[in-house]
Amino acid sequence: MEISILGAGAMGSLFGGLLAEAGHDVTLVDIDDAHLDAIHRDGLRLVTDAGERVVKNLRACRPEQAAHAPELLIVFTKTMHTEAALAVARALLGAQTAVLSLQNGLGNVERLERSVPRARIMVGMTTWPADKPGPGRVDSHGAGAIRLMSADGDVGAASASLARTVNALNAAGLHCTADPDVWSAIWEKVAFNAALNSLCAVTQCTVGELSNLPDGETLALKIVAEVAAVARAHGVAVNEAHIRETVLHALAHHRTHRPSMLQDVLAGRKTEIEAINGAVVAAARTVPMAVPCTETLLHLVRLVEVRSPQ
Ligand code: NAD
Repeated sequence: MEISILGAGAMGSLFGGLLAEAGHDVTLVDIDDAHLDAIHRDGLRLVTDAGERVVKNLRACRPEQAAHAPELLIVFTKTMHTEAALAVARALLGAQTAVLSLQNGLGNVERLERSVPRARIMVGMTTWPADKPGPGRVDSHGAGAIRLMSADGDVGAASASLARTVNALNAAGLHCTADPDVWSAIWEKVAFNAALNSLCAVTQCTVGELSNLPDGETLALKIVAEVAAVARAHGVAVNEAHIRETVLHALAHHRTHRPSMLQDVLAGRKTEIEAINGAVVAAARTVPMAVPCTETLLHLVRLVEVRSPQ
């Protein structure tokens, strides 16, 4: 399959590298010149549980250099960069190009829909983790999976591309299933991230440090309960007990982990707070219902972001 990845940071490079290894025709598209230069010079260094290797059978370019529309475009920028990236990389959007977002947060379909008809959009959730320790290299350890569906409900023209996409991702070892209940998975991850990402970003605590006092756990579980209630009010069946278990497991076992929002704050970058807590607050207002903890964390992260230049 001819596949382009728009936003080839940690996740985009992991997916691009694994898809290229599986024999797909992959182009990474990004604005990080140091990363692109390293890939042009040495190839993409992939470090996973399967070992360390260099993937050389892929292309890498900047969005303005992308000249060819692929069969599948995977968007893996951070959520707040989706629209700017697509505006420059318009040549990637052909009349038949299917577009997939596995980005975190809510609103990804709506952001893509400003450039692509809904019938050609696929949306999902992935539990694969990835880090980019430096230019040209991506690390991913532990198992993950992908659940996805067509944004229009898995019917119509998109279902053929859905099946081809699921097959391509499975051939790359990414454990993908088509799942009409994907919105439950998306909201459950939003609840987890709304709690732990925002609390760690504001306190600058690791996940473990957050659990050193009962306040961390209490606040995290309050946010989980608020987000789960908003999801249910919007007709999405989330398993709140499962989200609570996942949060408690992270607090107990992922002690040194710095969630991406904390990493962004420490690096002076904008965070994905608007697509996570911000989108939950917006969804709560339409019910209407109050989400005081989620909303307070939204305001606090915005205040912390005032010091972030990018
Ligand atoms: P990242 O910051 O490592 O990668 C994003 C990439 O987008 C960067 O390389 C950046 O240069 C690029 N970019 C920014 N603006 C661009 C533009 N205008 N045109 C082209 N490229 C542009 O982020 P990530 O960790 O790979 O996360 C990507 C998405 O996946 C996020 O929504 C995140 O929440 C989600 N996610 C991440 C993980 C993880 O473990 N890292 C896991 C699941 C989901």
